[in-house]
Amino acid sequence: MVSKVLIANRGEIALRIQRACREMGIQTVAAHSTADVDAMHVRFADESVCIGPPPSPQSYLNIPALITACEITGADAIHPGYGFLSENAHFAQIVEEHDLTFIGPTAEHIRLMGDKITAKDTMKTLGVPCVPGSEGSVETVDDARAIANGMGYPVIIKAASGGGGRGMKVANSDAEIANAFSSARSEAKAGFGDDTVYIEKYLGGPRHIEIQVFGDGKGNAVHLGERDCSLQRRHQKVLEEAPSPVISPELRAEIGATCAKAVADMNYRGAGTVEFLYEDGGFYFIEMNTRLQVEHPVTEAIFGVDLLQEQIRVASGLPLSFSQDELVVNGHAIEARITAESLPNFTPSPGKVTAYHAPGGLGVRMDSGLYAGYSIPPYYDSLIGKLIVHGKDRATALRRMDRALAEMVIEGVESTTPLHQALVQDPEVISGDYNIHWLEKWLEKGGE
Ligand code: ADP
Repeated sequence: MVSKVLIANRGEIALRIQRACREMGIQTVAAHSTADVDAMHVRFADESVCIGPPPSPQSYLNIPALITACEITGADAIHPGYGFLSENAHFAQIVEEHDLTFIGPTAEHIRLMGDKITAKDTMKTLGVPCVPGSEGSVETVDDARAIANGMGYPVIIKAASGGGGRGMKVANSDAEIANAFSSARSEAKAGFGDDTVYIEKYLGGPRHIEIQVFGDGKGNAVHLGERDCSLQRRHQKVLEEAPSPVISPELRAEIGATCAKAVADMNYRGAGTVEFLYEDGGFYFIEMNTRLQVEHPVTEAIFGVDLLQEQIRVASGLPLSFSQDELVVNGHAIEARITAESLPNFTPSPGKVTAYHAPGGLGVRMDSGLYAGYSIPPYYDSLIGKLIVHGKDRATALRRMDRALAEMVIEGVESTTPLHQALVQDPEVISGDYNIHWLEKWLEKGGE
Protein backbone atom coordinates (compact mmCIF):
# COMPACT_ATOMS: atom_id res chain seq x y z
CA MET A 1 0.00 0.00 0.00
CA VAL A 2 1.22 3.53 -0.75
CA SER A 3 2.20 5.47 2.38
CA LYS A 4 2.31 9.14 1.45
CA VAL A 5 0.18 10.72 -1.28
CA LEU A 6 0.99 14.02 -2.95
CA ILE A 7 -2.22 15.79 -3.97
CA ALA A 8 -1.69 17.43 -7.36
CA ASN A 9 -4.91 19.43 -7.24
CA ARG A 10 -6.85 21.99 -5.24
CA GLY A 11 -10.31 22.90 -3.97
CA GLU A 12 -12.93 20.38 -2.92
CA ILE A 13 -11.27 17.42 -4.68
CA ALA A 14 -7.98 18.03 -2.84
CA LEU A 15 -9.92 17.84 0.42
CA ARG A 16 -11.75 14.73 -0.80
CA ILE A 17 -8.45 12.97 -1.54
CA GLN A 18 -7.11 13.97 1.83
CA ARG A 19 -10.13 12.65 3.72
CA ALA A 20 -9.85 9.28 1.95
CA CYS A 21 -6.13 9.05 2.75
CA ARG A 22 -6.53 9.99 6.39
CA GLU A 23 -9.10 7.24 6.98
CA MET A 24 -6.64 4.75 5.45
CA GLY A 25 -3.75 5.93 7.63
CA ILE A 26 -1.96 7.40 4.60
CA GLN A 27 -0.01 10.68 4.95
CA THR A 28 -0.80 13.56 2.58
CA VAL A 29 1.20 16.34 0.99
CA ALA A 30 -0.63 19.38 -0.41
CA ALA A 31 1.21 20.74 -3.46
CA HIS A 32 -0.23 24.23 -3.88
CA SER A 33 0.24 27.53 -5.68
CA THR A 34 0.92 30.79 -3.84
CA ALA A 35 -2.76 31.66 -4.38
CA ASP A 36 -3.81 28.67 -2.25
CA VAL A 37 -1.66 29.16 0.86
CA ASP A 38 -4.80 29.60 2.96
CA ALA A 39 -6.82 26.81 1.34
CA MET A 40 -8.52 24.32 3.65
CA HIS A 41 -6.74 21.27 2.21
CA VAL A 42 -3.36 22.97 2.73
CA ARG A 43 -4.27 23.60 6.36
CA PHE A 44 -5.38 19.99 6.87
CA ALA A 45 -2.50 18.28 5.05
CA ASP A 46 0.27 16.57 6.98
CA GLU A 47 2.75 18.55 4.89
CA SER A 48 2.53 21.19 2.20
CA VAL A 49 4.83 22.39 -0.55
CA CYS A 50 4.44 25.54 -2.61
CA ILE A 51 4.95 24.60 -6.26
CA GLY A 52 4.66 27.98 -7.98
CA PRO A 53 2.73 31.17 -8.67
CA PRO A 54 -1.05 31.33 -9.30
CA PRO A 55 -1.24 30.60 -13.07
CA SER A 56 -1.80 26.83 -13.44
CA PRO A 57 0.91 26.25 -16.08
CA GLN A 58 3.45 27.38 -13.47
CA SER A 59 1.97 25.45 -10.55
CA TYR A 60 -0.77 22.80 -10.86
CA LEU A 61 0.45 21.85 -14.35
CA ASN A 62 4.15 22.16 -13.49
CA ILE A 63 5.38 18.56 -13.79
CA PRO A 64 9.02 19.11 -12.67
CA ALA A 65 7.81 21.02 -9.58
CA LEU A 66 5.39 18.21 -8.66
CA ILE A 67 8.02 15.49 -9.03
CA THR A 68 10.49 17.56 -7.00
CA ALA A 69 7.84 18.03 -4.30
CA CYS A 70 7.56 14.23 -4.07
CA GLU A 71 11.31 13.91 -3.75
CA ILE A 72 11.52 16.57 -1.04
CA THR A 73 8.68 15.14 1.05
CA GLY A 74 9.21 11.44 0.39
CA ALA A 75 5.72 11.02 -1.10
CA ASP A 76 5.47 7.68 -2.91
CA ALA A 77 2.27 8.35 -4.87
CA ILE A 78 0.43 11.16 -6.68
CA HIS A 79 -3.32 11.63 -6.91
CA PRO A 80 -4.17 13.99 -9.78
CA GLY A 81 -7.87 14.55 -8.90
CA TYR A 82 -9.88 15.72 -11.94
CA GLY A 83 -8.93 18.42 -14.45
CA PHE A 84 -5.34 19.72 -14.41
CA LEU A 85 -2.98 16.75 -15.11
CA SER A 86 -5.48 13.97 -14.39
CA GLU A 87 -5.81 12.90 -18.04
CA ASN A 88 -2.28 13.74 -19.14
CA ALA A 89 -0.63 10.50 -20.30
CA HIS A 90 2.81 12.11 -20.38
CA PHE A 91 2.47 13.04 -16.69
CA ALA A 92 1.32 9.54 -15.71
CA GLN A 93 4.32 8.11 -17.54
CA ILE A 94 6.81 10.48 -15.87
CA VAL A 95 5.35 9.69 -12.44
CA GLU A 96 5.86 5.97 -13.00
CA GLU A 97 9.35 6.52 -14.46
CA HIS A 98 10.26 8.14 -11.14
CA ASP A 99 9.12 4.99 -9.31
CA LEU A 100 6.10 6.80 -7.91
CA THR A 101 2.57 5.40 -8.01
CA PHE A 102 0.14 7.25 -10.25
CA ILE A 103 -3.30 6.87 -8.70
CA GLY A 104 -5.12 6.35 -11.96
CA PRO A 105 -4.93 4.20 -15.07
CA THR A 106 -1.78 3.45 -17.07
CA ALA A 107 -0.39 6.13 -19.41
CA GLU A 108 -1.28 3.82 -22.29
CA HIS A 109 -5.00 3.77 -21.38
CA ILE A 110 -5.08 7.52 -20.74
CA ARG A 111 -3.58 8.08 -24.19
CA LEU A 112 -5.94 5.62 -25.86
CA MET A 113 -9.06 7.28 -24.43
CA GLY A 114 -7.68 10.85 -24.54
CA ASP A 115 -8.00 10.86 -28.31
CA LYS A 116 -11.74 10.64 -28.81
CA ILE A 117 -11.37 9.14 -32.29
CA THR A 118 -9.20 6.27 -31.04
CA ALA A 119 -11.50 5.90 -28.04
CA LYS A 120 -14.55 5.44 -30.29
CA ASP A 121 -12.69 2.98 -32.52
CA THR A 122 -11.55 0.97 -29.50
CA MET A 123 -15.00 0.90 -27.92
CA LYS A 124 -16.64 -0.08 -31.20
CA THR A 125 -14.23 -3.01 -31.49
CA LEU A 126 -15.07 -4.02 -27.91
CA GLY A 127 -18.78 -4.15 -28.71
CA VAL A 128 -19.89 -0.80 -27.26
CA PRO A 129 -22.52 1.06 -29.35
CA CYS A 130 -21.31 4.49 -30.62
CA VAL A 131 -22.87 7.68 -32.05
CA PRO A 132 -22.95 7.40 -35.86
CA GLY A 133 -20.31 9.61 -37.47
CA SER A 134 -17.15 9.93 -39.53
CA GLU A 135 -14.67 7.06 -39.69
CA GLY A 136 -11.74 8.81 -38.04
CA SER A 137 -10.76 12.44 -38.51
CA VAL A 138 -12.14 14.83 -41.11
CA GLU A 139 -9.56 16.93 -42.95
CA THR A 140 -11.45 19.23 -45.31
CA VAL A 141 -14.76 21.12 -45.52
CA ASP A 142 -15.66 19.12 -48.62
CA ASP A 143 -15.22 15.87 -46.72
CA ALA A 144 -17.23 17.29 -43.81
CA ARG A 145 -20.06 18.26 -46.18
CA ALA A 146 -20.07 14.86 -47.88
CA ILE A 147 -20.22 13.04 -44.53
CA ALA A 148 -22.97 15.34 -43.23
CA ASN A 149 -25.04 14.75 -46.36
CA GLY A 150 -24.45 11.03 -46.06
CA MET A 151 -25.95 10.83 -42.57
CA GLY A 152 -28.23 13.86 -42.69
CA TYR A 153 -28.20 17.13 -40.73
CA PRO A 154 -27.86 18.24 -37.98
CA VAL A 155 -24.28 17.18 -37.26
CA ILE A 156 -21.77 18.13 -34.59
CA ILE A 157 -18.09 18.74 -35.30
CA LYS A 158 -15.92 17.81 -32.32
CA ALA A 159 -12.27 18.16 -31.34
CA ALA A 160 -10.46 14.80 -31.08
CA SER A 161 -8.54 16.12 -28.06
CA GLY A 162 -11.55 18.03 -26.70
CA GLY A 163 -12.83 18.34 -23.17
CA GLY A 164 -14.84 20.61 -20.93
CA GLY A 165 -17.48 21.13 -23.58
CA ARG A 166 -15.11 23.12 -25.82
CA GLY A 167 -14.29 22.65 -29.50
CA MET A 168 -17.79 21.49 -30.46
CA LYS A 169 -19.88 23.12 -33.19
CA VAL A 170 -23.29 22.18 -34.55
CA ALA A 171 -24.19 22.54 -38.23
CA ASN A 172 -27.83 22.34 -39.36
CA SER A 173 -27.30 22.58 -43.12
CA ASP A 174 -24.77 22.83 -45.95
CA ALA A 175 -24.87 26.60 -45.43
CA GLU A 176 -23.50 26.22 -41.90
CA ILE A 177 -20.94 23.48 -42.36
CA ALA A 178 -17.96 25.55 -43.55
CA ASN A 179 -18.24 27.95 -40.64
CA ALA A 180 -18.79 25.20 -38.06
CA PHE A 181 -15.87 23.20 -39.42
CA SER A 182 -13.37 26.06 -39.35
CA SER A 183 -14.44 27.41 -35.97
CA ALA A 184 -14.33 23.93 -34.37
CA ARG A 185 -10.84 23.50 -35.81
CA SER A 186 -9.52 26.83 -34.57
CA GLU A 187 -11.12 26.40 -31.13
CA ALA A 188 -9.53 22.94 -30.94
CA LYS A 189 -6.13 24.30 -31.94
CA ALA A 190 -6.31 27.16 -29.45
CA GLY A 191 -7.70 25.07 -26.59
CA PHE A 192 -5.87 21.77 -27.00
CA GLY A 193 -2.98 22.44 -29.39
CA ASP A 194 -4.46 19.92 -31.82
CA ASP A 195 -6.87 20.84 -34.62
CA THR A 196 -7.96 17.29 -35.43
CA VAL A 197 -11.76 17.13 -35.63
CA TYR A 198 -14.39 14.48 -36.35
CA ILE A 199 -18.11 14.48 -37.06
CA GLU A 200 -21.07 12.92 -35.29
CA LYS A 201 -24.77 12.90 -35.86
CA TYR A 202 -26.19 15.62 -33.58
CA LEU A 203 -28.86 13.95 -31.48
CA GLY A 204 -32.03 16.02 -31.01
CA GLY A 205 -33.09 15.24 -27.46
CA PRO A 206 -30.88 12.66 -25.77
CA ARG A 207 -30.05 12.25 -22.10
CA HIS A 208 -26.45 12.12 -20.91
CA ILE A 209 -26.05 8.78 -19.18
CA GLU A 210 -22.63 7.65 -17.96
CA ILE A 211 -21.54 4.33 -16.53
CA GLN A 212 -19.06 4.15 -13.67
CA VAL A 213 -16.57 1.34 -14.12
CA PHE A 214 -13.70 0.03 -12.02
CA GLY A 215 -10.92 -2.31 -13.14
CA ASP A 216 -8.08 -3.98 -11.26
CA GLY A 217 -5.64 -3.83 -14.20
CA LYS A 218 -5.56 -7.63 -14.31
CA GLY A 219 -8.60 -8.34 -16.42
CA ASN A 220 -11.29 -7.97 -13.75
CA ALA A 221 -13.81 -5.14 -13.78
CA VAL A 222 -17.19 -4.17 -12.36
CA HIS A 223 -19.71 -1.44 -13.09
CA LEU A 224 -21.46 0.80 -10.56
CA GLY A 225 -24.51 1.69 -12.60
CA GLU A 226 -25.25 5.00 -14.22
CA ARG A 227 -25.38 8.70 -13.45
CA ASP A 228 -27.79 10.95 -15.31
CA CYS A 229 -26.05 14.23 -16.10
CA SER A 230 -28.55 15.65 -18.59
CA LEU A 231 -28.99 19.00 -16.85
CA GLN A 232 -26.24 20.90 -18.65
CA ARG A 233 -25.30 24.42 -19.60
CA ARG A 234 -22.84 24.88 -22.48
CA HIS A 235 -22.28 21.10 -22.54
CA GLN A 236 -21.20 21.26 -18.88
CA LYS A 237 -22.96 19.37 -16.10
CA VAL A 238 -24.89 21.39 -13.52
CA LEU A 239 -26.93 18.86 -11.51
CA GLU A 240 -26.46 15.09 -11.55
CA GLU A 241 -28.40 12.15 -10.19
CA ALA A 242 -28.15 8.40 -9.73
CA PRO A 243 -29.87 6.25 -10.68
CA SER A 244 -31.34 7.81 -13.82
CA PRO A 245 -35.13 8.19 -13.77
CA VAL A 246 -35.30 6.55 -17.21
CA ILE A 247 -33.04 3.50 -16.80
CA SER A 248 -34.62 0.25 -15.59
CA PRO A 249 -32.67 -2.27 -13.49
CA GLU A 250 -32.56 -4.62 -16.52
CA LEU A 251 -31.18 -1.93 -18.82
CA ARG A 252 -28.63 -0.91 -16.15
CA ALA A 253 -27.44 -4.50 -15.83
CA GLU A 254 -27.17 -4.84 -19.61
CA ILE A 255 -25.28 -1.64 -20.47
CA GLY A 256 -23.26 -1.95 -17.25
CA ALA A 257 -22.13 -5.46 -18.18
CA THR A 258 -21.17 -4.29 -21.69
CA CYS A 259 -18.99 -1.52 -20.23
CA ALA A 260 -17.46 -3.70 -17.51
CA LYS A 261 -16.56 -6.33 -20.11
CA ALA A 262 -15.01 -3.72 -22.41
CA VAL A 263 -12.73 -2.34 -19.68
CA ALA A 264 -11.91 -5.84 -18.38
CA ASP A 265 -10.84 -6.82 -21.92
CA MET A 266 -8.54 -3.78 -21.98
CA ASN A 267 -7.00 -4.73 -18.57
CA TYR A 268 -8.06 -1.27 -17.43
CA ARG A 269 -6.90 -0.20 -13.96
CA GLY A 270 -8.79 2.12 -11.62
CA ALA A 271 -11.87 4.29 -11.98
CA GLY A 272 -13.32 5.16 -15.36
CA THR A 273 -16.50 6.60 -16.78
CA VAL A 274 -18.01 5.48 -20.05
CA GLU A 275 -20.18 8.34 -21.32
CA PHE A 276 -23.22 7.81 -23.53
CA LEU A 277 -26.00 9.78 -25.06
CA TYR A 278 -29.26 7.87 -24.60
CA GLU A 279 -32.14 8.43 -27.01
CA ASP A 280 -35.22 6.36 -27.89
CA GLY A 281 -33.96 3.38 -25.92
CA GLY A 282 -30.52 3.36 -27.60
CA PHE A 283 -27.09 4.02 -26.04
CA TYR A 284 -24.49 5.92 -28.07
CA PHE A 285 -20.92 6.09 -26.70
CA ILE A 286 -19.33 9.57 -26.84
CA GLU A 287 -16.18 9.32 -24.71
CA MET A 288 -14.46 7.66 -21.77
CA ASN A 289 -12.98 9.64 -18.88
CA THR A 290 -9.99 7.92 -17.34
CA ARG A 291 -10.27 9.52 -13.89
CA LEU A 292 -12.64 10.11 -11.03
CA GLN A 293 -15.49 12.42 -12.05
CA VAL A 294 -16.72 15.52 -10.23
CA GLU A 295 -20.07 13.75 -9.77
CA HIS A 296 -18.69 10.49 -8.30
CA PRO A 297 -20.34 11.09 -4.87
CA VAL A 298 -23.84 10.24 -6.16
CA THR A 299 -22.54 6.78 -7.05
CA GLU A 300 -20.83 6.48 -3.66
CA ALA A 301 -24.12 7.35 -1.97
CA ILE A 302 -26.29 4.75 -3.69
CA PHE A 303 -23.74 1.94 -3.53
CA GLY A 304 -22.27 2.77 -0.11
CA VAL A 305 -18.66 2.63 -1.33
CA ASP A 306 -15.67 4.99 -1.23
CA LEU A 307 -14.45 5.29 -4.81
CA LEU A 308 -11.40 7.30 -3.85
CA GLN A 309 -10.17 4.70 -1.39
CA GLU A 310 -10.83 2.07 -4.04
CA GLN A 311 -8.61 4.03 -6.48
CA ILE A 312 -5.81 4.04 -3.91
CA ARG A 313 -6.18 0.32 -3.20
CA VAL A 314 -6.17 -0.66 -6.87
CA ALA A 315 -3.22 1.65 -7.66
CA SER A 316 -1.36 -0.10 -4.82
CA GLY A 317 -1.88 -3.45 -6.58
CA LEU A 318 -4.69 -4.76 -4.35
CA PRO A 319 -7.75 -6.51 -5.80
CA LEU A 320 -11.15 -4.80 -6.08
CA SER A 321 -12.85 -4.76 -2.68
CA PHE A 322 -16.34 -5.41 -4.11
CA SER A 323 -17.75 -7.95 -6.54
CA GLN A 324 -20.52 -7.19 -9.04
CA ASP A 325 -23.04 -9.12 -6.91
CA GLU A 326 -22.27 -6.99 -3.86
CA LEU A 327 -23.02 -3.77 -5.71
CA VAL A 328 -26.71 -3.14 -5.11
CA VAL A 329 -28.46 0.20 -5.70
CA ASN A 330 -29.83 1.69 -2.51
CA GLY A 331 -32.11 4.73 -2.88
CA HIS A 332 -31.45 7.85 -4.90
CA ALA A 333 -28.77 10.58 -4.80
CA ILE A 334 -28.50 14.06 -6.34
CA GLU A 335 -25.53 16.40 -6.58
CA ALA A 336 -25.64 20.18 -7.08
CA ARG A 337 -22.44 21.81 -8.35
CA ILE A 338 -22.25 25.11 -6.51
CA THR A 339 -20.09 27.66 -8.32
CA ALA A 340 -19.04 31.18 -7.35
CA GLU A 341 -20.88 32.81 -10.23
CA SER A 342 -23.42 35.53 -10.40
CA LEU A 343 -26.79 34.78 -11.99
CA PRO A 344 -28.30 35.13 -14.53
CA ASN A 345 -25.14 35.48 -16.64
CA PHE A 346 -22.85 33.09 -14.74
CA THR A 347 -20.13 35.73 -14.44
CA PRO A 348 -17.36 34.60 -12.08
CA SER A 349 -17.69 35.98 -8.57
CA PRO A 350 -14.41 35.39 -6.74
CA GLY A 351 -13.54 37.21 -3.52
CA LYS A 352 -13.84 36.99 0.21
CA VAL A 353 -16.44 34.72 1.77
CA THR A 354 -17.72 36.72 4.73
CA ALA A 355 -20.11 34.08 6.10
CA TYR A 356 -20.46 30.36 5.43
CA HIS A 357 -22.74 27.71 6.79
CA ALA A 358 -22.93 24.24 5.28
CA PRO A 359 -26.23 22.33 5.36
CA GLY A 360 -26.39 19.09 7.32
CA GLY A 361 -28.75 16.46 8.63
CA LEU A 362 -29.67 12.96 7.49
CA GLY A 363 -28.49 12.10 3.98
CA VAL A 364 -26.66 15.40 3.36
CA ARG A 365 -23.00 15.67 2.35
CA MET A 366 -21.20 18.90 1.53
CA ASP A 367 -17.80 18.58 -0.17
CA SER A 368 -16.26 22.03 -0.05
CA GLY A 369 -13.11 23.85 1.02
CA LEU A 370 -15.04 27.01 1.94
CA TYR A 371 -14.85 28.70 5.34
CA ALA A 372 -15.77 32.16 6.60
CA GLY A 373 -12.92 34.53 5.84
CA TYR A 374 -11.61 32.46 2.90
CA SER A 375 -10.82 34.37 -0.29
CA ILE A 376 -11.81 32.52 -3.48
CA PRO A 377 -8.93 33.17 -5.90
CA PRO A 378 -9.84 34.41 -9.40
CA TYR A 379 -7.43 32.10 -11.22
CA TYR A 380 -9.21 28.75 -11.23
CA ASP A 381 -12.47 26.95 -11.93
CA SER A 382 -15.41 28.55 -10.14
CA LEU A 383 -16.63 25.33 -8.44
CA ILE A 384 -16.71 26.04 -4.70
CA GLY A 385 -18.66 23.10 -3.38
CA LYS A 386 -20.76 20.06 -4.14
CA LEU A 387 -23.91 19.39 -2.19
CA ILE A 388 -24.91 15.74 -2.33
CA VAL A 389 -28.12 14.35 -0.89
CA HIS A 390 -29.24 10.75 -0.54
CA GLY A 391 -32.74 9.48 0.19
CA LYS A 392 -34.79 6.31 -0.07
CA ASP A 393 -36.26 7.37 -3.41
CA ARG A 394 -36.09 10.21 -5.95
CA ALA A 395 -38.92 12.23 -4.43
CA THR A 396 -37.24 12.13 -1.00
CA ALA A 397 -33.88 13.13 -2.50
CA LEU A 398 -35.44 16.09 -4.36
CA ARG A 399 -37.15 17.36 -1.21
CA ARG A 400 -33.96 16.85 0.78
CA MET A 401 -31.95 18.85 -1.77
CA ASP A 402 -34.50 21.66 -1.59
CA ARG A 403 -34.33 21.64 2.22
CA ALA A 404 -30.51 21.49 2.30
CA LEU A 405 -30.14 24.34 -0.21
CA ALA A 406 -32.40 26.46 1.97
CA GLU A 407 -29.97 25.94 4.87
CA MET A 408 -26.92 26.97 2.87
CA VAL A 409 -25.35 30.32 3.73
CA ILE A 410 -22.63 31.74 1.45
CA GLU A 411 -22.10 35.49 1.84
CA GLY A 412 -19.61 37.90 0.32
CA VAL A 413 -19.66 36.24 -3.11
CA GLU A 414 -22.47 35.27 -5.44
CA SER A 415 -23.23 31.58 -5.91
CA THR A 416 -25.47 29.39 -8.05
CA THR A 417 -27.42 28.11 -5.03
CA PRO A 418 -30.66 29.87 -6.16
CA LEU A 419 -30.43 28.16 -9.57
CA HIS A 420 -30.24 24.72 -7.97
CA GLN A 421 -33.13 25.51 -5.69
CA ALA A 422 -35.28 26.61 -8.63
CA LEU A 423 -34.31 23.46 -10.53
CA VAL A 424 -35.30 20.98 -7.82
CA GLN A 425 -38.61 22.80 -7.45
CA ASP A 426 -39.37 22.75 -11.18
CA PRO A 427 -42.25 20.43 -12.17
CA GLU A 428 -40.40 19.05 -15.22
CA VAL A 429 -37.28 18.25 -13.20
CA ILE A 430 -39.48 16.67 -10.54
CA SER A 431 -41.21 14.58 -13.22
CA GLY A 432 -37.80 13.51 -14.58
CA ASP A 433 -38.77 14.68 -18.05
CA TYR A 434 -35.69 16.48 -19.34
CA ASN A 435 -32.86 16.02 -21.84
CA ILE A 436 -29.45 17.65 -22.50
CA HIS A 437 -31.07 20.71 -24.13
CA TRP A 438 -33.70 21.32 -21.45
CA LEU A 439 -31.68 23.55 -19.10
CA GLU A 440 -30.45 25.91 -21.84
CA LYS A 441 -34.04 26.46 -22.99
CA TRP A 442 -35.22 26.91 -19.41
CA LEU A 443 -32.50 29.53 -18.80
CA GLU A 444 -33.42 31.34 -22.04
CA LYS A 445 -37.00 31.60 -20.78
CA GLY A 446 -35.71 33.07 -17.53
CA GLY A 447 -36.06 29.90 -15.49
CA GLU A 448 -39.72 29.04 -16.04
P1 ADP B 1 -16.41 17.00 -23.50
O1 ADP B 1 -15.29 16.01 -23.44
O2 ADP B 1 -15.99 18.34 -23.99
O3 ADP B 1 -17.21 17.05 -22.22
P2 ADP B 1 -18.37 15.20 -24.74
O4 ADP B 1 -18.09 14.44 -25.98
O5 ADP B 1 -18.32 14.43 -23.45
O6 ADP B 1 -17.39 16.47 -24.66
O7 ADP B 1 -19.78 15.89 -24.84
C1 ADP B 1 -20.25 16.79 -23.86
C2 ADP B 1 -21.70 17.09 -24.08
O8 ADP B 1 -21.91 17.65 -25.40
C3 ADP B 1 -22.63 15.89 -24.01
O9 ADP B 1 -22.99 15.55 -22.70
C4 ADP B 1 -23.80 16.40 -24.82
O10 ADP B 1 -24.57 17.30 -24.07
C5 ADP B 1 -23.14 17.19 -25.95
N1 ADP B 1 -22.89 16.33 -27.12
C6 ADP B 1 -21.74 15.69 -27.44
N2 ADP B 1 -21.88 14.95 -28.57
C7 ADP B 1 -23.16 15.11 -28.98
C8 ADP B 1 -23.95 14.59 -30.07
N3 ADP B 1 -23.43 13.76 -30.98
N4 ADP B 1 -25.26 14.99 -30.15
C9 ADP B 1 -25.80 15.84 -29.24
N5 ADP B 1 -25.11 16.35 -28.21
C10 ADP B 1 -23.81 16.01 -28.06
